[in-house]
Amino acid sequence: MSSLKKIYVAANAVDAHMFKELLEQEGVQSVVRGDDFVPLQGGSLFTMETRPSVWVFDDEHVLRARELADDFRRRATSSDETLASWTCRCGETIEEQFTECWSCRRPKPDARD
Ligand SMILES: [Zn+2]
Repeated sequence: MSSLKKIYVAANAVDAHMFKELLEQEGVQSVVRGDDFVPLQGGSLFTMETRPSVWVFDDEHVLRARELADDFRRRATSSDETLASWTCRCGETIEEQFTECWSCRRPKPDARD
């Protein structure tokens, strides 16, 4: 018998659906929970505050789905790091908001450099 297994807790609904799409590309069926719109009386919509999560049905897909979740998480983290820093010619890694190297005081290199 198969049952739903929680694979990934997302930061937000977009994150959850991106991961669901990735699973589908790999042929793994999944559902997103926690981002449901719950209809209230009067027809207005209420968004649940909980963080959405991605669940997988088939036991045979759980291991593969967990690997994909690790990759997905790692990729999200490394792209953040790339955006948030630059590397000086002396080899130091400098955060984006600084325009010169704290170590050797070279200015941040630009396209003409
Ligand atoms: Zn430097």
